[in-house]
Amino acid sequence: MTTLQLNKAHWPVTVLGPGKRIGLWLQGCSIRCKGCVSQDTWPADPTKAIEVAELLAWCKRASDGRLDGVTISGGEPFDQPEGLAALLDALRRWRRRASLDFDVLCYSGYPLKTLERDHAAILDRLDAIVPEPYVDALPLGNVWRGSRNQPLVPLSARGRARYSKLVDAPADAAGKHMQVAVEGGRVWMIGIPERGDMARLERLCASRGLDLKEVSWRR
Ligand code: SF4
Repeated sequence: MTTLQLNKAHWPVTVLGPGKRIGLWLQGCSIRCKGCVSQDTWPADPTKAIEVAELLAWCKRASDGRLDGVTISGGEPFDQPEGLAALLDALRRWRRRASLDFDVLCYSGYPLKTLERDHAAILDRLDAIVPEPYVDALPLGNVWRGSRNQPLVPLSARGRARYSKLVDAPADAAGKHMQVAVEGGRVWMIGIPERGDMARLERLCASRGLDLKEVSWRR
């Protein structure tokens, strides 16, 4: 049985790819970009392991098959290559057997050349990828990207049909950047913040007497 360390799963996500999507954030990232807003995903944590079959069952239950896509982020998905490949196989089987048309978009902090060299078989299973590390010193990137160095790379026929026109689209091309979810007594900020947004949020909350604790953008 193949497992994946999972930080969080959410449905619906509307700010990380087109349409209504399942969002999966994997646990563990060895890249550790300066300024990362998801630092809670950095440590690997075996207690967060979930079987791929169980995760797929959650995807089916949560979305009821009404999804436009699945976005896999992290954490660093390619730090768990076996689990990631198994998840992608399971998603593709579901898509085929249920005659669905959702796409699978994955984020990675590894350079595209590294992924092409080390993980070509996984790239073959994806519809699109946003590779390259987040660079805090660069401006916000194009739509769905944190920094200007990160491309959006369609990888399949479905990916090219859906993403090619968005490769150079501006950050606001898909409307809002962020969504908020409250689950398990925690507030989840989903999406790509603009530079300084988290500090502004903290100041705004503090001005209303609310101290944010255990934030993911600081360790
Ligand atoms: S931005 Fe992504 S790759 Fe970079 S440290 Fe954060 S989770 Fe890891």
